[in-house]
Amino acid sequence: MLDSETGSLLQIELNTISASFPGLGSLVSELHRTLINQYGKLFCLDSKRIPGNAASSRFAEALARAWHEFNVDSAVIMMIVQPEERNMYDQYWLAKHLKESHGITTIRKTLSEVEAEGHVLPDGTLIIDGRTVSLVYFRAGYTPNDYPSEAEWNARLLIEQSSAVKCPSISYHLVGTKKIQQELAKPNILERFLENKEQIAKICKCFAGLWSLDDEEIVKSAIQNPELFVLKPQREGGGNNIYGLDVRETLIKLQKEGGDALAAYILMQRIFPKASLANLVRGGACHEALTISELGIYGAYLRNKDKVLMNDQSGYLMRTKVSSSDEGGVAAGFAVLDSLYLTDK
Ligand code: ADP
Ligand code: MG
Repeated sequence: MLDSETGSLLQIELNTISASFPGLGSLVSELHRTLINQYGKLFCLDSKRIPGNAASSRFAEALARAWHEFNVDSAVIMMIVQPEERNMYDQYWLAKHLKESHGITTIRKTLSEVEAEGHVLPDGTLIIDGRTVSLVYFRAGYTPNDYPSEAEWNARLLIEQSSAVKCPSISYHLVGTKKIQQELAKPNILERFLENKEQIAKICKCFAGLWSLDDEEIVKSAIQNPELFVLKPQREGGGNNIYGLDVRETLIKLQKEGGDALAAYILMQRIFPKASLANLVRGGACHEALTISELGIYGAYLRNKDKVLMNDQSGYLMRTKVSSSDEGGVAAGFAVLDSLYLTDK
């Protein structure tokens, strides 16, 4: 988010599992460009100022690269989806790219289907419905709701123990937790992973304030000024963060509980982006509202043992929501897909 006070882009978080909308997000940028081509003159808008967004083809390219690395021609890519998946068109768009541009077949399975239909051969090969799976791409499995019984946990373990490429593996999944991001923002931690001082400084500039709750001073100031903080549990998928007066109430409650209660959360500086007037279309109806926007940069990282094969940006996601809403998810119903429009200033 663009912090209105400092004018700098501050990072909300890093997602390592189920980053959605590469498919529909790039289509929306194309739609906006087409609309501006047709009607832009009326509004003095130029379609070339919307940067190209190749998220869907770049995602497909990264998945295909991993499929090639696995090196079994008959193998499929398995997308793990929720039983009542609502975001399937975004996912189908990736599967289409994989088939049409790379000749790779994608199958879709829920975790409970994997438990029922899958097994791992002694050499580690993951087999589903008699087919070898080269890569497991998770578009589910990030919320406790995705694990209603032991069956789903068994499926996750089966996948993890197999030799299939995982997007992500358990360890990369954990890197995306709020706690790890808070630890990464501590002084001298990035130095463990990066050598280039300039790069480290650039990354640090994007970090908002992040604190562990064993810092008594910060807990005290969050109780005093809760509107300046966001309290975050180790959850994904939106709707779980705590804002405003609830921050104070929850912190006091957690302090009373004692033990490890506070350790389940982190505190983050609340970012206040500048609001602007926009037209949002949802369910076919257009609403004018004061809005704030959030830019996401996709990345693809592929490693085979010590060899890093890919570490690239893969397009962007622009989301816009009414400024009064705390949460930002599109599928969760808080935001709409949007595009960047570059100006001279
Ligand atoms: P999740 O992983 O559940 O999506 P996030 O940490 O990404 O949780 O937060 C969800 C949304 O809440 C973000 O997309 C953003 O709109 C809003 N949000 C999160 N952290 C902050 C913050 N520090 N300041 C302002 N808004 C925030
Ligand atoms: Mg997240």
